[in-house]
Amino acid sequence: MLVGLRSRRQIEPFSLRQPATLAEALALYRGPGASALLAGGIDLIDWLKHGHAVDRLIRLDGLPELAAITGGSDRLRIGAMATHAAIGDSPLIRDVLPDLSTLWNKVANPRIRFAGTIGGNIMAKRSDYDGPPALLALAAEAEIATDAGTQRIALDRISDLVTAFVVPEPTSQRLFADRSLRPAVSLWIGMTVTGGQVSAMRVAVGMAHPTAVCVTLNPNVPVAVLGGQAASIAEQVMRRLPEPMSDGRASASYRRRMVGVLTRRILLQAGEGA
Ligand SMILES: Cc1cc2nc3c(=O)[nH]c(=O)nc-3n(C[C@H](O)[C@H](O)[C@H](O)COP(=O)(O)OP(=O)(O)OC[C@H]3O[C@@H](n4cnc5c(N)ncnc54)[C@H](O)[C@@H]3O)c2cc1C
Repeated sequence: MLVGLRSRRQIEPFSLRQPATLAEALALYRGPGASALLAGGIDLIDWLKHGHAVDRLIRLDGLPELAAITGGSDRLRIGAMATHAAIGDSPLIRDVLPDLSTLWNKVANPRIRFAGTIGGNIMAKRSDYDGPPALLALAAEAEIATDAGTQRIALDRISDLVTAFVVPEPTSQRLFADRSLRPAVSLWIGMTVTGGQVSAMRVAVGMAHPTAVCVTLNPNVPVAVLGGQAASIAEQVMRRLPEPMSDGRASASYRRRMVGVLTRRILLQAGEGA
């Protein structure tokens, strides 16, 4: 028996543009008709193959400034066109926020890591991607292009052309993640640590809600005692977590319980490593 499945349609015609400046890219994007910004193309080309039609595809790879990773101890700026591989391998990130290098080197497979960008990961707006919870855990903001230059906005308010993501005080941050229960739930915890004391903790949950959700706490405890506080912090996180979704991957109650388990697990490890 021969069984065939042809779910992909022919891609509708479109014009392909490669702007040389950010201003030109923005003008093209805002031009008449439907536009789409093309980064690595992993999601976008797939959408086009499934019938999503645009009048204009705007390639962003002619704007090398969008791929730059810059900054220092006060802020880390990761260009929207930085690939996952570039983030994992960046000497600057390894220097100012080594946890991000270690964790980002585990995201996706080599083919995706070398083509996929952080901007595309966020703007694909998928609940099962790691970019949104990771950046929420780091208290990052987005930088978008406007007619008057660039502007910083909260991650959940992004629209238009994203130029970068900005992480505040990277050298004061620790980042932990547990992705072992994907695709039901993933957990990213960012901590602001000053003088061995955790002043702020952001517990970002991926895959459990339509978009990533972040619970912020101010435990004000030494990193070394996090293990002892793990159960009570996990309780607080579960209490403050919006109702997770139930779908074919997991029920809401399982997801809520697992957020507690993963929070405890990460905090125990963080305390032991202090
Ligand atoms: C096999 C496989 C495994 C994967 N594993 C993982 C994983 O483990 N973790 C994970 O997080 N992800 C994973 N992914 C997803 C992958 O990370 C994303 O597909 C990739 O990051 C998308 O980036 P892109 O540059 O290709 O985006 P594109 O496909 O080019 O763009 C995606 C969307 O973002 C928009 N966009 C792109 N750049 C900008 C910008 N600068 N400003 C505004 N809008 C923009 C586009 O218009 C489009 O709407 C996986 C994907 C595959 C296929």
